[in-house]
Amino acid sequence: MARYTGAVCRQCRREGKKLFLKGERCFTDKCSVSRRAYAPGQHGQGRKKNSEYGLQLRAKQMTKRYYGVLESQFRHYYELAEKKEGKTGEALLAILESRLDNTVYKLGWASSHAEARQLVSHGHFTVNGRKVNIPSYLTKPGDVISIAEGSRSSVKFKAIFEANASRPVPKYLEVNNDTFEGKVVAVAKREEIALAVDETLIVELYSK
Ligand code: SF4
Repeated sequence: MARYTGAVCRQCRREGKKLFLKGERCFTDKCSVSRRAYAPGQHGQGRKKNSEYGLQLRAKQMTKRYYGVLESQFRHYYELAEKKEGKTGEALLAILESRLDNTVYKLGWASSHAEARQLVSHGHFTVNGRKVNIPSYLTKPGDVISIAEGSRSSVKFKAIFEANASRPVPKYLEVNNDTFEGKVVAVAKREEIALAVDETLIVELYSK
């Protein structure tokens, strides 16, 4: 399956929720969800009754869109989550949160998941001192993520620091922008994950 290349804001309007896919714009009154709070397309404003399956599908789609993950990869994460102790839905979200691109975004070192993915691919970060340019790399507690030395004084990162200075960092991460280092201190707990999805619907969908 190819990566989605259409209008980004349509994805939020489809889910009826802000997924924060466009960085700064998402926090302004230009946000399409705020301006047009109905699904895109000709029938977007029509009455919609969601079936049980429809709700489960929307929960999965929203989660995939938020993290920018394709179906096969998402399914792989679900299978990993099934093998973990505890609730599968929560384990699935914790795995998605641990992706390097999400970690970089949550550290405030990118304005959106898409930007984080691009910055990681371009080799701007190290994990425990080694360059990692794979956005899907799964971080673990104890990992230290750093902005690569050659990137630290770039105009790009100065602008990113300014734009994201007030964005709170979740408790499972620590960041020090003076040393350009971030640390994963724990596996993300459900209450520390901002995505407003009922993850049990995803489990129900895949359990069929
Ligand atoms: Fe979604 Fe951001 Fe577009 Fe609003 S501006 S619809 S939150 S991507």
